Amino acid sequence: MPSLIFATNNIHKVQEINIILHGYFDVKSLKESGIEVDIPEPHDTLETNATEKSSFIYNLLGKNCFSEDTGLEVYSLNGEPGVKSARYAGEDNDFNKNIDKLLGKMKDIQNRSAQFKTVISLILDGKEYQFTGICKGMITKERKGSGGFGYDPVFIPEGSAKTFAEMRMEEKNMYSHRKKATAQLITFLRNHYGKN
Ligand code: IMP
Repeated sequence: MPSLIFATNNIHKVQEINIILHGYFDVKSLKESGIEVDIPEPHDTLETNATEKSSFIYNLLGKNCFSEDTGLEVYSLNGEPGVKSARYAGEDNDFNKNIDKLLGKMKDIQNRSAQFKTVISLILDGKEYQFTGICKGMITKERKGSGGFGYDPVFIPEGSAKTFAEMRMEEKNMYSHRKKATAQLITFLRNHYGKN
C-alpha cells in the first residue's frame, strides 16, 4: 500500500481523513511520523496556504505528502472568516471564541448562507496537485450538538436538518467539504498507482 504523510497537527482532520482513506493508502500523521513542527500558514488564500504546508513538509522530509487548508465562507460577511477561520477571534485558535465572534457579527443578519471549502495539496515525487471540495449550508443562530470541531456546532449542511456537531463522523463525511476533496485525491492516487 503506498504511504503518504498527512502534513497536519490537527487530530480531528487526521481522524476524519483516516476513515475515508483507510484501506486505500497508508496515511501517517506528523505525530505518527515522530515530527513535531509548527507548520506556517502565512498566506491569504486557502490554495497558497495548502501549498505552503505540503512543500514545507516535503522539503523537510523528502517524502510524498499532502496537506489541506479549510475555511468557512459566509456570504453576508463577504467570505469571512475564510482563510482566517482558525484565528478569527485571536491567535489562540479557540473554537468557542471564534463561534462567539461569528454569531455576534451575524446577530441581525437574515441571510445565513455559508460554505466550507477545503483545498488539498498533494506533493508526489516533487510535483504538486490540488483538489477542492465545497459543502454549502447555513449558519444557525445558536450552537447545537457536541461532536466534531471548529464551527461544526453552528453549521447545517444542505440536505440535512442537523449541524455537523450533531452527526457522527461517518454522517458528516456524507456531506463534508473534506470528504469531497479527499474523494478526488483517492481517484487521482488510484489512477496514478494504477489501481481499479
Ligand atoms: P485550518 O485548515 O487548519 O487552517 O483550519 C481552519 C479552521 O477552520 C479550523 O481551526 C476550524 O476552526 C475550522 N474548520 C476546518 N475544518 C472544519 C470542519 O470540518 N468543521 C468545522 N470547522 C472547521
